[in-house]
Amino acid sequence: MRVGIGHDTHRLVEGRPLILGGVRIDHPRGLLGHSDADVVMHAVADALLGAAALGDIGEHYPDTDPRWAGLDGGRLLADVVERVARSDYRPGNCDVIVHAQEPKLTPHKPAIRANLARLLGLDISAVNVKAKTGEHVGPIGRGEAIACEAVVLLRAGAGD
Ligand code: MG
Repeated sequence: MRVGIGHDTHRLVEGRPLILGGVRIDHPRGLLGHSDADVVMHAVADALLGAAALGDIGEHYPDTDPRWAGLDGGRLLADVVERVARSDYRPGNCDVIVHAQEPKLTPHKPAIRANLARLLGLDISAVNVKAKTGEHVGPIGRGEAIACEAVVLLRAGAGD
């Protein structure tokens, strides 16, 4: 078994959709980025790459490459799952913390969790999504950014 950690932060700005874990959330601001800026998908993808010792998403999908402009986070995560499978590993479980002062994420957790389970090829019982505010301090607490941390366990054997 292997374990990996992932982190991502994107700035919250006007005029962008807010997409977290593949769920489009109704909110006056969204995350700024070259891709869709889905911090959840990016953090989970980096955790997978980390567990398989395959580098990070910045190496594989550089934000200077026009091919990845507007890249859907779910597509990125699916691609990373395939890369990891080529190294003969498959996800075992996944735990995620989303740091956002606003909006309240409780109503969206089930959909985020289901998206992650589908993309990782896991039963829903092997995926957990937690949400924390920034307690009104720091860039998260002031609503300037949303961040995500993820831990993923990989099992040897690409599966059946
Ligand atoms: Mg990112």
